Formats: sequence, structure tokens, C-alpha cells
Amino acid sequence: MLTNIVTATPAQIPSISFQDDGTPYTEQLGNTNFDSKLGYKLRPTITKPQHVSIIGGGIASACAAYALTQKGIKVTLYCKDNSLAQGASSNAIGALFPLLHQQQDAISLFYQQAFSRARSLYNHVIEQGFNFPHQWCGLLDVSYKESLIKRQHKFAELNAWPAQLIHSIDATQAEKIANIPMQYGGLFIPNAGWLAPQQAVKQLIACAKTTGRLKVENNTKVSNITAIQSKDEKTRWLLSTSQGEIETSVLIVCGGAEIINLDYIKQLPFSVVQGQVTSMKTNDNISKLATVICHKGYLTPSQNHQHCIGATFNKNSTRTTATAEEDSFNIEMLKTCLPELSAAINWSIKDIVNSKSRLRCMTPDHLPMVGAMPDIKKHLEAYPHLAKDKNWRYTQAAPVVDNLYLMMGFGARGLCSAPLAADILTADLCGTPYPVDNNMLFNLSPNRFVIRAIVRDKI
Ligand SMILES: Cc1cc2nc3c(=O)[nH]c(=O)nc-3n(C[C@H](O)[C@H](O)[C@H](O)COP(=O)(O)OP(=O)(O)OC[C@H]3O[C@@H](n4cnc5c(N)ncnc54)[C@H](O)[C@@H]3O)c2cc1C
Repeated sequence: MLTNIVTATPAQIPSISFQDDGTPYTEQLGNTNFDSKLGYKLRPTITKPQHVSIIGGGIASACAAYALTQKGIKVTLYCKDNSLAQGASSNAIGALFPLLHQQQDAISLFYQQAFSRARSLYNHVIEQGFNFPHQWCGLLDVSYKESLIKRQHKFAELNAWPAQLIHSIDATQAEKIANIPMQYGGLFIPNAGWLAPQQAVKQLIACAKTTGRLKVENNTKVSNITAIQSKDEKTRWLLSTSQGEIETSVLIVCGGAEIINLDYIKQLPFSVVQGQVTSMKTNDNISKLATVICHKGYLTPSQNHQHCIGATFNKNSTRTTATAEEDSFNIEMLKTCLPELSAAINWSIKDIVNSKSRLRCMTPDHLPMVGAMPDIKKHLEAYPHLAKDKNWRYTQAAPVVDNLYLMMGFGARGLCSAPLAADILTADLCGTPYPVDNNMLFNLSPNRFVIRAIVRDKI
């Protein structure tokens, strides 16, 4: 039963523009060891809900639905399309690998943990009989130019990562692993590989459905969300959808790049980067490729007699129709980076089988956002002195918009990062221990951008 609207509607919320250069958050705030006097790092606790609604349909929502239903929570997933995984998660093939820098910085540590979680989740789902095309065949990040050879040497010299995660190999070893002639060595990630994202999403959802706790509503586009107050004073959400109005207690937004202008969500610094992948017909010179090759783009082993090459990155486009220009770009990129291999394969536009353009949802610091939606206005009121002194101590917990959560901004690596993000979100909602430490939690928290903007006096 609805009563009055309690939270300011987005129209009433002052428009806040973030000027964020993406500098890693930890560097801005100095010591990020957990400190109870840094209240804005505290996550809100709520009573474990019996039911949540998710807006989505891609890998983020599939992982969230899977994790939440495992914990006994009922989930309704609203997807605007007539079937799941039609957005960024609809690619024929996606590479599964962590983003690792030479040093163990915050971003690499997140992707290291996320990668391990992703592999274990996908294996677990497959073992339960929900199979999807995949190959854990490793990934070779080829050192095809001087700067990359230097980087490879630096990786070996610093030795920051265990060899079973990533190690340096020469051209002879690369050739053996790739099973095709290779002119260069590179950095090899043995446990990486590829999977078919669309089928993976559908199988995760099918697996979650076996709990009897997941309902999927397709063809339901959410155009508006409004906070309402129920009789018991709790904030609930009214969704205006293509199927009419829907009321829900807890709402999680996992809508990727296509939902960044939704009320509330549009206050956060998401951006869109369009990309196109091209599927190429295999031939005798490439069909035996036995690992994923990364250069400036990537080249995957044969699946259904096709290889994926790509991808393009266009900041100023929201186009989801593929173009011949971008297919040519993908072919040229392979030619420029790996000319000998490209000459041997000898692909031209007549070998194109399929192309797809989709949108990546980006954040300024290349980490996703997972957790409660910050109440930005109340952040400004609660932590004003951070603008003068970034080490100012506040015990007050971060003000949030009640019962509104998000899990978005997976950029170019959602297949790797979504499973761990879903576990974090589940811990938020169930009050169970977090799978990551406090520093990492805050590095993923949506309010990190608000705090950073206050510190820089940019809000
Ligand atoms: C060209 C390209 C290549 C890529 N290659 C890789 C790769 O090799 N490896 C990798 O890990 N990642 C890769 N990515 C990134 C990866 O695809 C994304 O990080 C991931 O798919 C994001 O998942 P998501 O669930 O957040 O978003 P999406 O998959 O976009 O899902 C969002 C869902 O929300 C639904 N939705 C949106 N708005 C509404 C609304 N208003 N109402 C109801 N439903 C709504 C959409 O229908 C969609 O189903 C690539 C991306 C692109 C574009």
C-alpha cells in the first residue's frame, strides 16, 4: 500500500557534476586502512530482505540473481528485451582474464581475486550440468613492440605475482602454447581463457531458477523509479515499466550502459564506450590456435569454425549497429600488431561471418561500482570538512538512498569481475562477512566518487 513519497525525486535533486580524472582513489586519500573514524567507508546494514527486484539481463544481473537465490532470497529480474543477454553480454565470445599491472596495486588485486572467483563460479555452474561453451586455454598477452618487451622484462624482474597466475614466456614457448607460429613471447596467464557470454548468462539464470526463487520478466523496460513510503515507514520503490507500475521493497540496478540515465543512477559518473567485435571464418593457418591471443585487441581460438577479433573502443558513440568500417579496423589492428600472423591467416572482409556492436559501461577508475546508492546531497552535508582536510575524521556512516543498490560499471571486463561483485552485493543484503577486505570494499563502493569529489572540492 503506497502512502507518501519520502525521497526527493530526481527532478528535485540538484544536478551534481563530477570532475573525475580517474586517479586511483587510494592515492587520493592516503592511508586507507580501515578506521572507524572514516565513517563514510562504512556500508549500511539492512535486515535481510525476503525478496529483491533486479533491473538487468546481462552477466551482472545473472551473477547477482544466482548469488542472492543461493542465500534464500527471492528475486524478480526485469529485462527490457525479449530474451536475456542482448546488451554487452551478448557477444559470441569473451575473454576471461584479470587486469594485472606490474605491481600489486589496488586494481590488480581486485582483478586477481575476481578472476579466481569467476573461474570457480563458472566451473561450479558447469559441474551442476549448466554447461556453456568455454575453454580455459590460457591467454597470451603478446609483447609485439619494444615498450611491451620492456614491460614483460619488468614483470619478470619485479616478480609480484605467482607464476601460476601470470608469467613471462619467450617466442619458442609462446609458439608451443599457441600451437601456431609465433614471432614474439609475452605474458602468459595459464588459467585464463574464453567463454560464450550469452550462453553463460542463460545457464547461470537456469541454474538460479532451480532454487525456485527466481522469476524472469522479459519485455519489461523500466523507465522511471520513484521512492515511496509504505505503512511500516520503510522506503519501497515504484517502477514505471512498459508493463505498468510495479512496486518492490529492495531494488538493484544492473542495467549496464543502457541505464546510466535512469533516475538516481544518473548522478554517478558512469560513461559509455561503444565497441565492435568481428567473427571471422577459420582457415588452416589459424584453426589450430590453442590459446587466446591479446595484442592491442584480441584473437580467440576457433569455436564453431569462427574466431573473434576485436574490439573497437569509441567514447563518443552509443551505436549498437555494426559497421563495415569497424570490421576493417579490427582486421587492420591484427595486421598492425601481429603482421606475420596476420599475413599467414590472410583474412579479408569476405571472411567476416558476423559483427556486433555493443556498449560498455565505464567508471573513471576502471573498477565497477557495487553497493548502496549514495545519497549525494546528504554526503555534502555530512562531510563538508573533507574539502579542507582529506584526513578529517567523521564517524557518521555514509548516507544512502534506502533500499536502492547498484552493480554496474564493468567496463571491458565484466566476465571477470561480475561474480565477485555479486558476492559483495549479497553480503550487503544478507549481513554476512564480505569476501574482500575493507580497502577493496571502499574501492568498489559507489560513494567513493562522492567522497573524492568533496576532497577535491569538485562537487
Ligand atoms: C565489444 C565488446 C567486447 C567485450 N569483450 C569482453 C571480453 O572479452 N571480456 C570481458 O570480460 N568483457 C568484455 N566486454 C565487457 C562485457 O561485455 C561487459 O562488462 C558485461 O557484459 C557487462 O554486463 P552487464 O550485465 O553489466 O551489462 P549488459 O550485459 O549490458 O546487461 C544489461 C542488461 O540490462 C538490461 N536493461 C538495460 N536497461 C534496462 C531498462 N531500462 N529496463 C530493463 N532492462 C534494462 C539490458 O536489456 C541488458 O540485458 C566487452 C564489451 C564489448 C562491448
